[in-house]
Amino acid sequence: MIKTDILIIGAGPTGLFTVFEAGLLKLKCHLIDALAQPGGQCSEIYPKKPIYDIPGFPEVLAGDLTKNLLEQGKQFEPGFTLGERAETIEKQEDGSFIVTTNKGTKHHAPVVAIAGGLGSFEPRKPAIEGLENYEDKGVEYMIKDPEVYRNKRVVISGGGDSALDWSIFLADVASEVTLIHRRNEFRGALDSVEKVGELKLLGKINLITPAEVTGLHGDGKIEAVTVTKDGEESRIETDHFIPLFGLSPKLGPIGNWGLEIEKNAIKVDNSRNYQTNIDGIFAIGDVNTYPEKLKLILCGFHEATLMCQAAYRIINPGKKYVLKYTTVSGIDGFDGSRKEAPKAVVQSIQ
Ligand SMILES: Cc1cc2nc3c(=O)[nH]c(=O)nc-3n(C[C@H](O)[C@H](O)[C@H](O)COP(=O)(O)OP(=O)(O)OC[C@H]3O[C@@H](n4cnc5c(N)ncnc54)[C@H](O)[C@@H]3O)c2cc1C
Repeated sequence: MIKTDILIIGAGPTGLFTVFEAGLLKLKCHLIDALAQPGGQCSEIYPKKPIYDIPGFPEVLAGDLTKNLLEQGKQFEPGFTLGERAETIEKQEDGSFIVTTNKGTKHHAPVVAIAGGLGSFEPRKPAIEGLENYEDKGVEYMIKDPEVYRNKRVVISGGGDSALDWSIFLADVASEVTLIHRRNEFRGALDSVEKVGELKLLGKINLITPAEVTGLHGDGKIEAVTVTKDGEESRIETDHFIPLFGLSPKLGPIGNWGLEIEKNAIKVDNSRNYQTNIDGIFAIGDVNTYPEKLKLILCGFHEATLMCQAAYRIINPGKKYVLKYTTVSGIDGFDGSRKEAPKAVVQSIQ
């Protein structure tokens, strides 16, 4: 059982900034995300696009914003359960919650902050007979740990950035990489398309286009795939088949937690602290709705900050919190680090 003060569902920008604001109040956070990496939409949909409306950053790449948010919260030692979807929630007699993921990992916290954005990203699956039977038995829809593929044969299918980037990365890790796409054209960053072309010429990526994986074979785990090109079928022996056809967000199981839902978003009390209709469960960022709601990163940051104050009052009943400026009080990390502005000295000049 993972125990924490604030359990955050969703490691997008809103969830990541919550770690920092909670840390200032000496509250520890743990984040669950269905994706293999933190950053939410910023890392999954548009990591290389510049954002122009983050206060204080005239221009920042979405991927760099994620990196900076992780760096900003690092000293407060957040925990992560990645690649798992929060599935069920049970309220305990003392008002705390146990949240269990689809992989069975249990988390216990007095406060739950849902920062689930548009919902958990679910992989788009190709229509291949028997695909489900091989899931986690050689068929994976996202790459969590590239080391799993070291010295293994890998077939990737897809024509976007993920398929290109992982083919390039795994070319140096796997013993054999085959990239299959149903068109000759790829839809990705120009440098990635060019790099795949180079690796093909070097014999490090076996590129098959226009083609599709149409069959899977193996006894208990994947051993080979059927590839159809120009109506002709061929068989490729492989240890892994990784279809990377993008992810689509779904509010999913959170929709059945007894929360008030309006147009696929969670209704909250925006006049105070973004609490939902259930005491102790808050919803912040893109996932919530209230009059005049704006789905913007900076709004998620603001909502996270006010929510943390409410969490503090739940976790420390009767204790008064006095707002402190970080410029004045500095920051004490949970890792023993301390950041503070240089102190004024009293010293005469000779
Ligand atoms: C192309 C594009 C450009 C954009 N440009 C801008 C811009 O310029 N400025 C701006 O302010 N905003 C922009 N946005 C919007 C911005 O990205 C969102 O407002 C922001 O990502 C919301 O952050 P969030 O943390 O609330 O949610 P998300 O970023 O959506 O993160 C939510 C996370 O929760 C996870 N999750 C959900 N449910 C579960 C569950 N049950 N279990 C586990 N994990 C779960 C998801 O996997 C996801 O990673 C843009 C969006 C897009 C798509």
